[in-house]
Amino acid sequence: MIDKVEGFIINEQSYSETSKIINVFTRKYGIIGILAKGAKRIKSPFFNKVSKFTYASFNIQYKKGKLSTLISVDVLDYFKNIKSDIEKITYSSIISELVSQICKNEVNDKIYDIYSICLKKIDEGFSPIGITDIFKLRMLQFLGVDLKLDSCSICGSLKDIITVSCSSGGYICKNCYNNEKIISEAAIKLIRVFRYIDIEKITKFDVSDIVLLEISNFIDEYYETYTGIYLKSSSFLSILERLN
Ligand SMILES: [Zn+2]
Repeated sequence: MIDKVEGFIINEQSYSETSKIINVFTRKYGIIGILAKGAKRIKSPFFNKVSKFTYASFNIQYKKGKLSTLISVDVLDYFKNIKSDIEKITYSSIISELVSQICKNEVNDKIYDIYSICLKKIDEGFSPIGITDIFKLRMLQFLGVDLKLDSCSICGSLKDIITVSCSSGGYICKNCYNNEKIISEAAIKLIRVFRYIDIEKITKFDVSDIVLLEISNFIDEYYETYTGIYLKSSSFLSILERLN
């Protein structure tokens, strides 16, 4: 069956001397594997068109649950800015890897939309770490471990919120506080903004590095505690940070 699908290449690997297998995140089928025969040859019509993060329309021989075969491809967006910047590549890899762990063979329109907007924002030059934090926070609902950020996660009080706690899974107030790590007021507020903001409407991103780091550290600890997800791209990031 010949089929037309649109999607993002979330990873690519070599297959034989000349071919590639790409994994494409589609709205129609979730994540599918596609064999791009000859894609590594310079003269191939696929050459340079089937690389990671490219958004394209693919004509494929679709095989459910198996490797599909690429017939032709029309690139809709190369995401050139991402591809030319190591930091953007790294964070885009983290969100792509997260998608591949969460979606697998499932179709999920909401995750598709969030991923697509986040990739665009990173390409447009918004803070890759900030957008990645937003993406990770947004994914918590799909992992069944969303944070409670409307009131104290223990007593429900709306007053005197003093930190966000990993063990309680959300905000905690002064009365319920029991030696949890305190984060800054700015980080407490922003974590909620990040969780609920309409990503498409972000037009500026003025967040200090210190506050971003507080938020990222919290999210990483939360992921480690509750999701069981391990991301290879994140370990690459720590190598990159050590080199800087
Ligand atoms: Zn409380």
